[in-house]
Amino acid sequence: MPDPNGFLRYDRRLPARRPVPVRIMDWREVYPPAGEELVREQATRCMDCGIPFCHEGCPLGNRIPDWNDLVRTGNWDAAVESLHATNNFPEFTGRLCPAPCEAACVLGLGGQQPVTIKQVEVEIADAAAARGGLRPQPVPPPTGRSVAVVGSGPAGLAAAQQLARAGHAVTVYERDDAIGGLLRYGIPDFKLEKRHIDARLAQLAAEGVRFRTGVNVGVDVTAEQLRAEHDAVLLACGALQGRDTPETPGRALRGVHQAMTHLVASNRVVAAAGEGRPALAVLPDGMPIDAAGKHVVIIGGGDTAADCLGVAHRQGAAGVHQLDLYPEPPHSRDAARDPWPTWPWVLRNYPAHEEGGERVFAVAVQEFVDDGTGQVKGVRIAEVTVEKRDGRRIVTPLPGSERELPADLVLLAIGFEGTEEQPLLAQFGVARNARGAVDARPDWQTDADGVFVAGDMHRGASLIVWAIAEGRAAAAAIHTYLGGVGGLPAPVDPGRQPLAAR
Ligand SMILES: Cc1cc2nc3c(=O)[nH]c(=O)nc-3n(C[C@H](O)[C@H](O)[C@H](O)COP(=O)(O)OP(=O)(O)OC[C@H]3O[C@@H](n4cnc5c(N)ncnc54)[C@H](O)[C@@H]3O)c2cc1C
Ligand code: SF4
Repeated sequence: MPDPNGFLRYDRRLPARRPVPVRIMDWREVYPPAGEELVREQATRCMDCGIPFCHEGCPLGNRIPDWNDLVRTGNWDAAVESLHATNNFPEFTGRLCPAPCEAACVLGLGGQQPVTIKQVEVEIADAAAARGGLRPQPVPPPTGRSVAVVGSGPAGLAAAQQLARAGHAVTVYERDDAIGGLLRYGIPDFKLEKRHIDARLAQLAAEGVRFRTGVNVGVDVTAEQLRAEHDAVLLACGALQGRDTPETPGRALRGVHQAMTHLVASNRVVAAAGEGRPALAVLPDGMPIDAAGKHVVIIGGGDTAADCLGVAHRQGAAGVHQLDLYPEPPHSRDAARDPWPTWPWVLRNYPAHEEGGERVFAVAVQEFVDDGTGQVKGVRIAEVTVEKRDGRRIVTPLPGSERELPADLVLLAIGFEGTEEQPLLAQFGVARNARGAVDARPDWQTDADGVFVAGDMHRGASLIVWAIAEGRAAAAAIHTYLGGVGGLPAPVDPGRQPLAAR
């Protein structure tokens, strides 16, 4: 029986982040472990409200009140089991999820402080790793059926683990040189140290999942070959088509890059340093890309932009501006617009924002300014208003509001336009829809029989928690398609959307 009064005794508290001057000198995670006393105290704040709206907020349907109470009472082994019953990779979501569950927590009603669900989750996940490691689960006798998973992000990996645990032979194909998708080369180490991915991959490998890196499906191996070798295929190739701004004057100048170009290069340098190998962050043409000593302008207001900000500071940028097209959001929930328990539009301050830089809202770049040699030296911005008309976004500059910011390096973090156009699509006979995503039928099959889709490739650029949920659900559908015995858990269907008021 949970403690009904815990939230009256304890305020919401998170562990202190590592001090800014210390943490920007390295690439280690920003949060140190919370310590058992703090986690148990915070888990005690969960009052088991009866109708846990947090379940609805979490696409995985994590059993949050159950594991909060198990932590409160010190039952760590049972908490580990309860958490893994719905989530293959809580060490990723516990670190990286924006926690829509917390926005839906009953304790958050009326602007109060929700339970620190995500923090409890990561502590349980880390307890699992600390208590004898992530032990492989015993797998049933082989079913004789085999599945190819294309793409090794959280969607592909969650599906692979579920299918292997059901006795199917699973091979994950990844075009990069390492497994993990955006977890590996998109998200910087200060948010997720890569040892967490490696520990989980060791578990998957021990459960029978085979990994083939450096294989670009559609190029190095054809769809036809894959279909001949496997009984079903899951496409989990992400939504990595970066939005660009080709119409802005000066876009072709040196020093103006897609954010992902910079993040991937930086992550590779950090990975190499961890292995004792020297490496330079370089572009495909060999040009170095580094923020050291530079004035950096980041265009965009989301996760990717915040990650660029943290990277720029760790690389020693001289100064950073982060530009957002939209006005500064409110600091707390506007209940008329986003009533509880929906996900509110509020100002999101990431740890990277504590580390420096200036955020500029309601502005748009008018021109990338040339220094006369083809290298960017500044961005000319104007204050703007943004409105939606007939579903289209109309951006209007305010006359006389233009000014120039210094910029030696400009990073475009303005979103993604769906999955990349690549040979694999035509070969499998699937097409991108108007959003650049690949549609799924109710059983997660694409237009091509036996070819399934999950994660960002289906949903459009989204979140890790959705990728894992879709990977689990697609695995359940594949298991049924293959005539597997019994059912696997399917937390979402292809049409499921986040909680919304309208
Ligand atoms: C910079 C950045 C930061 C983010 N931060 C967060 C965060 O803090 N919290 C959060 O919840 N979400 C975050 N996200 C979103 C999150 O990373 C994604 O929603 C999630 O990774 C999607 O998982 P996925 O498995 O669908 O695809 P991905 O992780 O994109 O993986 C797709 C994989 O498919 C591979 N692939 C593609 N085509 C082929 C092919 N033809 N052959 C073989 N392999 C192929 C790619 O190389 C890639 O490895 C962030 C995204 C970015 C870009
Ligand atoms: S995965 Fe995300 S939404 Fe689900 S319980 Fe964890 S933090 Fe909350």
